[in-house]
Amino acid sequence: MKKILAGIAGFLLLLALGIGLLFLKMPKAGPALVELPGGVLGVLCRFSYSWIIPCQGGAVLIDAGLDEKAPDIIAALKNKGLQPEAVRAILITHGHGDHFGGAIAFPNARVLADKNDIPLILGLKKREGIIPGIFSKMSPRKTPPKKIEALPEGDSITVDGLTFGIIRLPGHSAGSVAYLLGDILFSGDALMGTAEGVMPPPSFASDDPQQSKKILATLLKAHFSTIANGHTGAVFDGHKKLEAYLAKTAGSED
Ligand SMILES: [Zn+2]
Repeated sequence: MKKILAGIAGFLLLLALGIGLLFLKMPKAGPALVELPGGVLGVLCRFSYSWIIPCQGGAVLIDAGLDEKAPDIIAALKNKGLQPEAVRAILITHGHGDHFGGAIAFPNARVLADKNDIPLILGLKKREGIIPGIFSKMSPRKTPPKKIEALPEGDSITVDGLTFGIIRLPGHSAGSVAYLLGDILFSGDALMGTAEGVMPPPSFASDDPQQSKKILATLLKAHFSTIANGHTGAVFDGHKKLEAYLAKTAGSED
């Protein structure tokens, strides 16, 4: 019996160590708050960013962090003189819990996501791949928003006077999208920052790692300079850095 318990303990230790090593591959999170032109504010919610964008009636959010009570976002809104009720819409970049978990804290917000990730958000589908599958099993299920709408099929959406471009970037998840507003690209996890440039999400974290790299070329024809992403904050000169990344990795399988 003791041997079995020791075996199980050893296995769990190795598993925890392995997962810890994988997390070392994640790029480092940026500062707690990131201010961008136009009153756009990035709020670090533990380890993922929600972006607050002022609009006619209050604010639109890109993603809503992990915590169902969304304390960091609510504190940042209060500093702008806004209550949670003033959030008009939440545009979800993809259906992972650390990006939609806080959506239920905003009672008046429309919540929109790509139709391919809505089953993930509703808990009707599990993440694909071995490691993402383990993440799914280990992390407690997030309560989905009461109502969730599919993004329109076209390439833009207007919410409360703001028109966002929609760029579909399947790979990290089937329904990953980026939103474009002016010269800011809100990329979720589909494109992240590094100390010097940009990178796709780490392979272990994506449903289809190959596709998550290939799809980045789609972004070349979009006009943006700042990348406001889901885990590292803002990347300036982002288009140039994307061009450099794609030139460097052209033809390589990795
Ligand atoms: Zn993700």
